Amino acid sequence: MTVEQIKATIASIPDYPKPGITFRDITPLLQDGDAFAASIEYFAERYRGSQITQIAAIEARGFIFGAALAKALNCGLTLLRKPGKLPGEVLSQRYQLEYGSDELQIRADSLDKNDHVVIIDDLLATGGTVAAAVQLIEQTQASIQEAAFLVTLDELPGEQKLQQQGVACYTLCR
Ligand code: 5GP
Repeated sequence: MTVEQIKATIASIPDYPKPGITFRDITPLLQDGDAFAASIEYFAERYRGSQITQIAAIEARGFIFGAALAKALNCGLTLLRKPGKLPGEVLSQRYQLEYGSDELQIRADSLDKNDHVVIIDDLLATGGTVAAAVQLIEQTQASIQEAAFLVTLDELPGEQKLQQQGVACYTLCR
């Protein structure tokens, strides 16, 4: 299956979750077994044979792609979660949303300097979410290979924001 065919399974929903916003809905892709498998295989091809020890997946849709990719690469899965979901000592990072702010957390003992990590999420928009993920992972001393996304919205500055943090970006669909 080509990237264009995968892209064709992603729906654009006007005025969701609020007027003026076009939401890219990946649920039809997930329901199409060939498209889901092909998207994971594109990611796996990119990282197979590299020194990746952990896929760091962002809650919630990043977990879907992260879990399947970690299985394909036979490496670990590290969860970047919304507040109050992880037991034990956690590191926290707040980040700005269009209105208000949100927070991501990682277990303090989940990564160390020996880890080589790919961050994954379904979609890159303003880059605020993944920037928080980068900051958390940097606190653990792990190295970041790059951040991977199913979709990048080219009209928004997410990729530039990642570049400013010194993190490369890989995306399947634009
Ligand atoms: P950012 O922080 O880059 O502005 O937004 C990216 C985060 O919001 C990701 O975790 C992503 O899941 C979610 N997100 C924002 N807009 C969309 C969208 O149109 N479709 C999907 N599937 N997720 C979105």
